[in-house]
Amino acid sequence: MSIVHGLDGWIFNKDPLFFDHLNRVEACHNCGLRQTGQHQCPGLGCLGAKVMFVGEAPGRVENPDLRGLPFVGNKSSDLLLDAIYTNWPKGYDEVYVTNVVKCNPPMNRKPEEDEIKSCTPFLWEELRIVNPWVVVALGRTAANWFGVREGLNTAKWKEYSWNGCLLFVKFHPAFILRFGYKAQLQYLAEFRLMKKEIDMWLKRKE
Ligand code: SF4
Repeated sequence: MSIVHGLDGWIFNKDPLFFDHLNRVEACHNCGLRQTGQHQCPGLGCLGAKVMFVGEAPGRVENPDLRGLPFVGNKSSDLLLDAIYTNWPKGYDEVYVTNVVKCNPPMNRKPEEDEIKSCTPFLWEELRIVNPWVVVALGRTAANWFGVREGLNTAKWKEYSWNGCLLFVKFHPAFILRFGYKAQLQYLAEFRLMKKEIDMWLKRKE
């Protein structure tokens, strides 16, 4: 069992590497988001997960109890969690979820290049610690971080290779929410299809 939770009193994994990582995130003031953002939010999930989801930045969360957890506490989180739990029923016991930047940008704006650059060492650390076999980049910012430059309408149907991992790109759930219920159903269908492809790939690799 290697569930990890965020900062501020949540229970977290005792893995010393991850503990150090959390402490470094907590102490970080390397960009302006620490001053202007609403809250900080490291990754959450299973260390050693085969599948890692990477979004853009923590979203605004009204309930203070839910701050510090990625993709928890707003509508786009609900859509992503629906997509994850439908396909990975153990949820955070079998996947890991994080963001490119760990602090919530003011007004939920996109993180800027210098903010992404400042936070990049933390994502590298997570990738080293979790060591996933499959990465799912959610949205343009995450896709760019992993070197995908194609439009998401094309990229979402493709499989990429990144540092020995299978890489998928999907729209960010917050973007999908703008287009209503039908788009959400389509999003869930895309996740089901992706899960089949992931399972086939993992079977070949194991
Ligand atoms: S966004 Fe990242 S680099 Fe910037 S202060 Fe937060 S943890 Fe540090």
